[in-house]
Amino acid sequence: MTTFAPRRIDLRGRRLDARVLRGVLPRADVDVSATLTTVAPICEDVRARGVDALREYTARFDGVDLDDVRVPREARRRALADLDQQVRAALEESIARARRVHTAQLPTELQTEAAAGGRVGQRWVPVGRVGLYVPGGRAVYPSSVIMNVVPAQIAGVASIAVTSPAQKDFGGLPHPTILAACELLGVEEVLAVGGAQAVAMFAYGVLGRDADGAEETVVDPVDVITGPGNVFVAAAKRYVQGTVGIDSEAGPTEIAVLADDGADPDHVAADLISQAEHDPLAAAVLVTDSSALADAVDARLEVRVPAAKHADRIAEALRGRQSAVVLVDDVEAGVQVVDAYAAEHLEIQTRDAAAVAARIRNAGAVFVGAHSPVSLGDYCAGSNHVLPTGGTAAHSGGLGVHAFLRGIQVIDYDETALREVADHVVALAESEDLPAHGQAVVARFPGADA
Ligand code: NAD
Repeated sequence: MTTFAPRRIDLRGRRLDARVLRGVLPRADVDVSATLTTVAPICEDVRARGVDALREYTARFDGVDLDDVRVPREARRRALADLDQQVRAALEESIARARRVHTAQLPTELQTEAAAGGRVGQRWVPVGRVGLYVPGGRAVYPSSVIMNVVPAQIAGVASIAVTSPAQKDFGGLPHPTILAACELLGVEEVLAVGGAQAVAMFAYGVLGRDADGAEETVVDPVDVITGPGNVFVAAAKRYVQGTVGIDSEAGPTEIAVLADDGADPDHVAADLISQAEHDPLAAAVLVTDSSALADAVDARLEVRVPAAKHADRIAEALRGRQSAVVLVDDVEAGVQVVDAYAAEHLEIQTRDAAAVAARIRNAGAVFVGAHSPVSLGDYCAGSNHVLPTGGTAAHSGGLGVHAFLRGIQVIDYDETALREVADHVVALAESEDLPAHGQAVVARFPGADA
């Protein structure tokens, strides 16, 4: 009798169309939409009462009486000076790899001649100001500082603010490793606020009072909010979207492993545990055509989970509705299942892993073969770990420089090129019953028939 094994879902012999799969695949009971009712009043309160509301929620959820939401520069300098040298070296390596990969993502400016003398260009312009969320409830994520800040810097964003929850064990500041990572990256504005209230702070900006009681702007509103977080953070991002831009919804983490009987069950178990460690709502899903592998993974979980530091959190995540071992007829059926699931992280541990990975259409990130575990991507692969969860990988991608850029089209036609296409503009304008559109073109060619 096992105690940590996720539930089994047996899809062998079943018809696997999208409708069927949507009904049977594991998902958490707590979803982002349901949490909107919790976060909406928090966001509205921050919008209305500014810093006073931030202080109250920080006391309630983080147990900290905030003096100032802004983290002084001196505290960040001290955190970097006190940082363990091995951790510093690891952060620096992670930053270097992330910079390399994200620099390669920069789109090139385009200039196309749609017709002789009719040019359409595409410029990429960074947004002016961004608010980057770095989680810090159950675990602290200095790696998420890197994953947010590096693409924003490479995109050329001029004003970057980072926020992370105040920690009562660290004098009401964010965790020192987070502050050190901000300092390493040269971030100038760091705030000590977490959860939905932090998202609202960025979306609406907040006012407070200075020492003389005069009103002052404590945090300016941003154009874009990015970053991962728990379900409250994901729901708040959904709530403020429209007022600001957001990246994908990066909520409680998920790992799916597509494996055949050639996979090493101990590695599969270790990888499932590595993501279950984040959050009791984290999802760990194994999809396999081998019941022998499924049994062997269960057996390794029995050994590894009790020995893990965060065994309780891991056990809750593995036993939750969101986790499962899914049995399928063959790897081809497995590809259909993982595509329908659209995991945040998908490992391919099958024969010909690269060929199988190339067929995947829906995933936040794909980890190919035996030597690319998800935890490599969490820290040091160079890829970004802020990835879409909850099935949103079917329509969204992970964080990258594009989240901080807007493509602006530049239309530049000369007289001949406009004249050449004038009849077509007029015909389409008439067909849409918007004749003034056509007249705006005709006005430029007095005496012409167009
Ligand atoms: P967090 O910073 O996201 O959340 C902590 C905050 O949640 C607190 O400051 C508090 O304000 C708020 N909160 C807690 N309980 C609340 C309640 N009952 N009502 C309203 N607000 C409440 O930190 P966390 O909780 O450790 O979660 C981090 C999450 O980020 C994990 O789920 C992890 O899986 C996820 N993550 C995701 C990715 C990704 O790319 N998808 C990457 C890293 C981490």
